Amino acid sequence: MPRSDRDSAESIESTASVESRHATDSAAAGPWSARRRSVAVAVGRPEVGQVWIGGGHPVVVQSMTNTSTADVAATVAQVKALAHAGSELVRITVNHEEAARAVPEIVHQLRQEGVTVPIAGDFHYNGHLLLTRYPRCAQALDKYRINPGNVGTGVHRDDNFAAIVRIAIDQGKPVRIGVNWGSLDQELLTSLMNENARRPRPLTAPQVVLEAMVESALRSAERAENLGLPHDRIVLSAKVSDVSDLVTVYRKIAARCDYPLHLGLTEAGMGTKGIVNSTAGLAILLAEGIGDTIRVSLTPAPGRSRTEEVEVAQSILQAMGLRAFLPQVTSCPGCGRTTNTFFQELTARVQEHIRQQMPRWRSQYPGVEELQVAVMGCVVNGPGESRHANIGISLPGTFEEPRAPVYVDGQLYRTLRGERVADEFLAILDEYVERRYGHGASVTSSQGES
Ligand code: SF4
Repeated sequence: MPRSDRDSAESIESTASVESRHATDSAAAGPWSARRRSVAVAVGRPEVGQVWIGGGHPVVVQSMTNTSTADVAATVAQVKALAHAGSELVRITVNHEEAARAVPEIVHQLRQEGVTVPIAGDFHYNGHLLLTRYPRCAQALDKYRINPGNVGTGVHRDDNFAAIVRIAIDQGKPVRIGVNWGSLDQELLTSLMNENARRPRPLTAPQVVLEAMVESALRSAERAENLGLPHDRIVLSAKVSDVSDLVTVYRKIAARCDYPLHLGLTEAGMGTKGIVNSTAGLAILLAEGIGDTIRVSLTPAPGRSRTEEVEVAQSILQAMGLRAFLPQVTSCPGCGRTTNTFFQELTARVQEHIRQQMPRWRSQYPGVEELQVAVMGCVVNGPGESRHANIGISLPGTFEEPRAPVYVDGQLYRTLRGERVADEFLAILDEYVERRYGHGASVTSSQGES
């Protein structure tokens, strides 16, 4: 178990009865602030698959499908892919009657195929109608997302919100009250704008928008509790698309409640921009101990897999040392000393090999996700970096003798030469994993050079 996961689990196990609703999460998380105290929310049934959000549990990675939910086969296939990539909670849109009708069948097929990931339903505008008319949909879902800005206006808004909350109570489901600045409750915003105008020193309009998001989330949660939804069945989010606004709004919410928080930059964008902006926002908050579940809302490039958002979310948590998901490959950027492409090809091959092996490795070799591998381009930093890794290879740079020393746990293990360097290195890697993480694990360098 990764260090941070282990620390959290130990803290959870040691927390007694009534106190167990809250984290005893005062342990420092490396150089970061201790995790913010939050109540633990269970999502999913324990006999099927359950995740805990908040309460000091490891930060949960989640994702969302982009298939039509009415298309059962496509949605089942994508949920499976996301779960296989490591998504621990998958949200699907439930936007019309065909989608609501499809939900029980989607969940049924997933469970038949052994996919246990909890499924959340995303509702806007008509969630009260769909959940009322399709009780099997309400029962099949593990969690409901309510957007308080999209449940209607005036008296209908309160009634519609209450209808969803009452169904959640009856079904024993948690909800996420998910505010989004693109669909902020306009009546609340107008009211806060009017109040602000009467202040001696009014806030700016953007500041009032962020205040309105915080108020919308907190007032909705309070209303849900007044309707009877237990405190430990509520997760909050308040998503914006600007990094500094994201940090501001979550700091405010974090200071005012102990609900677990779902972090995410909404409409993060495509490719590098989406990855960098999401990482920047989430990393700041996570470093402050804020955030119990994350989603990276990437726009997939045409032809790219939806699972990329899961890989990015995992990478953020792993880079910060908060969780470990798969072995990390350290590689240098290359420079004028690496004038052929072999170094890049080997790095890509090692990374791909690890990703392909992980589903099996994860079950057969507990702890393998903490493995560190180095692929270095020349003698300048190659041997040093390779010695720091569990297993590393230092390739020959231009004008160096064509030999590639491999280091295992800091010791020179073997020197590879010739055409089969990549194959032999991957074989050494596989052997290492078996010896270090398999049954009766222990690594020796009996075949190694000294
Ligand atoms: S290790 Fe060698 S090849 Fe890689 S960046 Fe440094 S000097 Fe260049």
